[in-house]
Amino acid sequence: MDAAPWPAGWTGGRTDGQSRTGGAGDEFAVIERLRARFEAPSEGAGRATTRLHAGEVGIGDDAAVVLPPADGPVLLATDLVVEGVHVDLGLCGLDDVGYKAVMVTVSDLAAMGARPDHLLLSVAAPPGTDLDLLGSGVDVAARETGCVVVGGDLSNGPALAVSVAVSGSLRSPTDPGPLLRSGARPGDLLFLTGPLGASAAGLRLLRGTAAPVAGSADPAWAALVGAHRRPVARLAEGEAARLAGASGCIDLSDGLAADARHLAVASEVGVAIEGVPAAEGATVAEALSGGEDYELLIAVGEEVDLERVFAGAGLRRPLPIGRCDDRAGSCTLDGRPLPGSGWVHRFDPQDRG
Ligand SMILES: [Mg+2]
Repeated sequence: MDAAPWPAGWTGGRTDGQSRTGGAGDEFAVIERLRARFEAPSEGAGRATTRLHAGEVGIGDDAAVVLPPADGPVLLATDLVVEGVHVDLGLCGLDDVGYKAVMVTVSDLAAMGARPDHLLLSVAAPPGTDLDLLGSGVDVAARETGCVVVGGDLSNGPALAVSVAVSGSLRSPTDPGPLLRSGARPGDLLFLTGPLGASAAGLRLLRGTAAPVAGSADPAWAALVGAHRRPVARLAEGEAARLAGASGCIDLSDGLAADARHLAVASEVGVAIEGVPAAEGATVAEALSGGEDYELLIAVGEEVDLERVFAGAGLRRPLPIGRCDDRAGSCTLDGRPLPGSGWVHRFDPQDRG
């Protein structure tokens, strides 16, 4: 593709009086460096693989042009990561923020059993923000999840805000359709793709550390902190569950207590949980309501042997945590009302801070 001198596909625009020409921090210089990074061929199996296919146009024109990789529906998801709300830049690097912004968005496709294809990245940031460092984290996550950044927007802003929008698809036209959070049925078994609470425990450890951005030689510390800074979207698990005939799914962004409720309400079923598997080093409260684990909660009929399917795909064993019943909207833990509500953004006037 042509390297336009003013790459407009990453549409510029509002610069709040900042210079638009020259300098390492200039909007268009940053865009050109990010374009080179995002579109650099992937190295693998001894050969470089181009990231854009013939007929596709990425960063550098007014809009990206992409070709759907498969027949069937296109899935779209977007998410925001905002400094002071979702991330504390004293506890996470800008590369972590970029990585996390991609993964939390892609996780919504994992919950539908889909794979990501193309990604738009928009960033508002105060002057002095190292956008190359942020872009390096975006690039790592995009490559790990098999998608390519094809456009976006940059702007100055009073605080860092990163918006990721991603398109995805199901990889075969004969596949079952996307998994929905409204698809669970009474009698379904409920599984988690992994133990919970690691992200919240990692945040707790970081807040209690004198030099929080420094690493630690303790592998347990590193695992929990890593879960907070660099969560992983469970794409293979979501796809395997969909192909196996799972009936419903949701990714756990707000915490099990909140997201199990979302599944129960959407599916008009009851959710009866028997025991919450907490990650090593996490408390039960963190596992229930800490949020940001991005594991999947999967509902499957008894005829589906999810453990066998996951084992056959080389995935971690899914953890059974209960089942759905016909008490629509009811959520219980060990027979008692499910405590905790997870994270809720407030928009009431009195919450203006
Ligand atoms: Mg979600």
